Amino acid sequence: MTRREIERKAELAELLLDAARQLGESLEPELVYERFHELLKAVVPHDGVVVSSYDERDGLIRCDYAWVEGNIVDASTLPPLPLNREGGGMQSRVILEGRPLMFNDVAERVQEPEGTYYNVDREGTVEKIPDAGPAGTTAAMMVPVKQEGGVVGVVQVMADTGSYDEEQLEVVEGLVAQMAAAVRNARLQKERRRLEAAEVAARAVAEERQQAANVLEAVGDGIFLVDRDGIVRLWNRAAEMATGLVAAEVCNAPLSAALPDWESLAARIPLTGSGSTPVSVTLPVAASGNDLWLSFIGVRSAEGVVYAFRDVTNEQRLEDEKRDFIATISHELRTPMAAVFGASQTLLHRADDLTADGRRQLLEMIAAQASRLSQITEEILLTTQLDRGDVTVDHQPVDVGAVAQASVDALRSQLPEDVSVEVDVDPDVGTASGDADRIQQVLVNLLDNAAKYGVSPVTVHVEQTNGVIQIHVADRGPGIPLSEQERIFEKFYRADPHHTRTPSGTGLGLYISRELIRRMGGRIEVRSRPGTGSTFVVELPSA
Ligand code: ADP
Repeated sequence: MTRREIERKAELAELLLDAARQLGESLEPELVYERFHELLKAVVPHDGVVVSSYDERDGLIRCDYAWVEGNIVDASTLPPLPLNREGGGMQSRVILEGRPLMFNDVAERVQEPEGTYYNVDREGTVEKIPDAGPAGTTAAMMVPVKQEGGVVGVVQVMADTGSYDEEQLEVVEGLVAQMAAAVRNARLQKERRRLEAAEVAARAVAEERQQAANVLEAVGDGIFLVDRDGIVRLWNRAAEMATGLVAAEVCNAPLSAALPDWESLAARIPLTGSGSTPVSVTLPVAASGNDLWLSFIGVRSAEGVVYAFRDVTNEQRLEDEKRDFIATISHELRTPMAAVFGASQTLLHRADDLTADGRRQLLEMIAAQASRLSQITEEILLTTQLDRGDVTVDHQPVDVGAVAQASVDALRSQLPEDVSVEVDVDPDVGTASGDADRIQQVLVNLLDNAAKYGVSPVTVHVEQTNGVIQIHVADRGPGIPLSEQERIFEKFYRADPHHTRTPSGTGLGLYISRELIRRMGGRIEVRSRPGTGSTFVVELPSA
């Protein structure tokens, strides 16, 4: 090796070392190309540089970086070229053979018929050569870009004047190898950053999902999703709580399996798109043996229909009570008030036409109806106090037999003559714990009902079993259907409120009775079969 050659090799080594350092710093492939070009400019004169990559999966050569006569051309505007396997085309040959090419007779080369040649001007306009005229380039070097033994691209260095030599080719080859390593590194870095970002994003999405799931679990509304095939895919905690149906038995099956009425319920729930305001509908739902009122909305989504519901059973009950209250009270007040009004009008305007007896009868009627009015008011007042928890009861020893007898005696005068009441007290009943006045109030109400709705004889039987004192009030009336036996204890409930022959009443008597007895630690229930009369049983703890 001559001295000059040694010097040149040393210069080249230094150049490449410096290039490796500079190129290695770039983390973006595009910046690596630019730096490569900067380095190239300093050592090899040229008018154009094109860096292309070859993708063996689709057999296309794509331009990654193009610089033409001082201008960077937007590489994405240049069309990808198919690899020419027949050996035509200079880039294709470099890719196929993996060896560099150098021409100093480009103008003649491009006339060859085997390949297709393009000229790119500084504006990035691509023209096919030779149709578009002779190529502006006279000398060109084409160096393969290699990675792990395979050719992944080509770097073309072109000059419009002069020629290139082997030494320049050696420099370009060296720089291209450094560039290839740096691009690979930058791509790996970029991929790593992309994966990291994707992982962060995935984690964020998972967290968001989890949060949404937590929110769904925590919200007070029942929420469930029925997919396009009618299968339940989600059933949140509130839905479980409201219906008593757990997610495990509802999910992954049609909802009608758990809620037999679902088909007819679903048909009544209006569905809205996700953008519009949903309309709610309140429907009666029988779930796990409970009669509920649920207010539903249904929103169509990509996965199916999302339903949200709220348990409005209590509100609905309140509504029912309010309706019953107004109906009963207006009906119940009207009769005595009309009687009082009529009698007082007669006394005012026609008193002179009446006998003393007639006047007395009217006054008695006014007194009786006024007492009925005050009784209604008392019942309403007591009901309100019970609801507010304002009523206290005694827990004293009570001789229930005596209270039963006293109740019958108190009522006797008000009962029609054909109603007979028998009292039968077991000898060893003992004393109950409770409030004597309130027990009497309950018994008077039960006796009054037995006389009103039942048929004589009415019997009151007091006994003691296992430390519990029972008072049975039985009649021989029409009895109470099973479906009514719980409802008659509800506020304002009257089994047949609009029946013309139904005796008057507020529907509060049994409600008040049950609430009072409960407060004494006892209970009250009815045993009845229609046609065979009714027996109301009051149970009180022994004292
Ligand atoms: P009210 O007597 O003012 O209507 P209650 O609460 O005492 O109110 O009774 C509620 C309903 O229960 C009555 O309207 C009646 O339909 C039914 N009921 C109560 N006692 C009897 C009975 N002994 N036989 C048949 N039905 C009864």
